[in-house]
Amino acid sequence: MKIDIQLTDAPIVIKAAPPPERGAHGVLVEFQGVVRGGEDGQSISALDYEAYPEMAVRQIRRLLETISTRHPCLAVRVIHRLGLVLVGETAIYVGIISRHRAEGFALLSEFMDRLKQDVPIWKRRALPALTALADHSPDAPVPAVSPATHSAIRSLDEAISGIQIHSHPLVAVRLPLAQAFGRVLRETVCAPADLPPFDCSTRDGYAILAEDTARDFRVVDTIHAAGWTPRQLQSGEAVRVATGAPLPCAGLRVVMQENVERQDDRFRIVRPETAANLRLRGEDLKAGQTLVPADTLLHAGTLALLATAGCVQPLVSPRLRVCHFTTGNEIVPPDQTPAPGQIRDSNSMLMLGLLKRFPCDLEQNHLPEDFETAWARLDLNRIATADLLLISGGASVGDKDFTRPLLERLGFKIIFSQVNVRPGKPLIFGVNGSRVAFGLPGNPLAHFVCFHFGVATALARLSGGKPPAFLRGRLAARLENPPGPRETLWPARLEYSGGTLQLHPLAWASSGDVTCFGSASALLRLPANGGSLAAGSEVDFLPATAIMDA
Ligand code: AMP
Ligand code: MG
Repeated sequence: MKIDIQLTDAPIVIKAAPPPERGAHGVLVEFQGVVRGGEDGQSISALDYEAYPEMAVRQIRRLLETISTRHPCLAVRVIHRLGLVLVGETAIYVGIISRHRAEGFALLSEFMDRLKQDVPIWKRRALPALTALADHSPDAPVPAVSPATHSAIRSLDEAISGIQIHSHPLVAVRLPLAQAFGRVLRETVCAPADLPPFDCSTRDGYAILAEDTARDFRVVDTIHAAGWTPRQLQSGEAVRVATGAPLPCAGLRVVMQENVERQDDRFRIVRPETAANLRLRGEDLKAGQTLVPADTLLHAGTLALLATAGCVQPLVSPRLRVCHFTTGNEIVPPDQTPAPGQIRDSNSMLMLGLLKRFPCDLEQNHLPEDFETAWARLDLNRIATADLLLISGGASVGDKDFTRPLLERLGFKIIFSQVNVRPGKPLIFGVNGSRVAFGLPGNPLAHFVCFHFGVATALARLSGGKPPAFLRGRLAARLENPPGPRETLWPARLEYSGGTLQLHPLAWASSGDVTCFGSASALLRLPANGGSLAAGSEVDFLPATAIMDA
């Protein structure tokens, strides 16, 4: 029997089953298992499948071969989805070609019965549906926005702490170490043994007794970096050791080979040394001490530490799922020529770039300006699987600004809808269970600013890591901050010059400006009511873009 097995992250595209011998078959039995909208009495939006792929493929093959001895068929194709499978999508496809229908049906039925018990593919979790959607009828009116809550404005500090309080770390996953770059470690990893694990030489040379007064030595053994032979040395005896090699006994020092004159198995020290040339067991870290604390961002250095500790399946933050929607009829894709009154979409590229340093799956789309048309366009199951929902534009109080009612209809509780900061005042933040959503101002500079103090804070919290913090630096040039009632996050270029980090304020006039993106690597935090700051003044700043992570 021909067998074809595929495990795939992508939606299943059903091609014809494997070609049988011409004229041999009389039946094609096809089966699709589809994700239902309910699981254990709960409304769900998707199932998340996980597998040991090689073992799963082996096991499916073995199962089919065993069953086909009782119900001989001509060919079978099995396609199983892995990862997120939305409600209504096919999770498994089975196509069977047989001579008669009895054996085709029998093979299918027995295979499906045994698949769950015998094959290491399992549902890791069911993602709940958006909470308010169950009650929503398409004809329900757009929820009225209460003027009282809509005008509730938060200070920058209140907004940041509101985001921290309402965004919670998502369920952690275990990953092979090599795949954990950029994730946040979610368990504290301690040294399982002393580091280094044994006393060892830091030089290529000769180990002798630390207090030996002999002038001539006889080489009695050799220890390379990988080998170890215990041996108690006597006065006048030496063991040839390589860099990193464990020492044969305690109470030794190492003489560098450059400082001896050797003949056959004997040598003489010609340049006495004071250094012992040793790394002692546990001098770097003792067994049981913290090696990498939980909430550490995993990069080259911390991954190397985990490798040292043999932590090959660390518990880390999951990959986040992010949806970013642009809104506004004036927006056209970058490859189109804008008609009068239109502008090109730059926020999608901006967000794609800003999210590069966060391990996430990003989905981007454009929504039409009419609320009901936009609503009808939304794939609600897909939105329900997003940990973070971002809507660009329409966050303010204009006639067409529907972000807030849209988030409310999606079941998000609005925590705040304005922040007393410039640029970036019309920022909406909402939560729905473990999901968070932002309505971001469409103006590009405001979009950029709100990402750094708002979205980046939520991303850090959802991952279980440390949120971005303001640092302190010095202005490289005088800055005139025009008077106004709001704190300002002023774009600047962070530069290392003259031995110090300097902040060069960039010119900008409006939240619609884009040119400062070319070099903005920091946002200066300036108090309300304006004023001038002399060159050399100390200011708080938030690192912007990936420049500080490099
Ligand atoms: P809104 O926040 O919807 O009031 O949009 C304010 C302004 O932001 C619009 O008039 C556009 O000039 C600009 N804008 C909105 N969306 C985008 C986008 N995706 N890319 C670039 N500019 C945008
Ligand atoms: Mg708009």
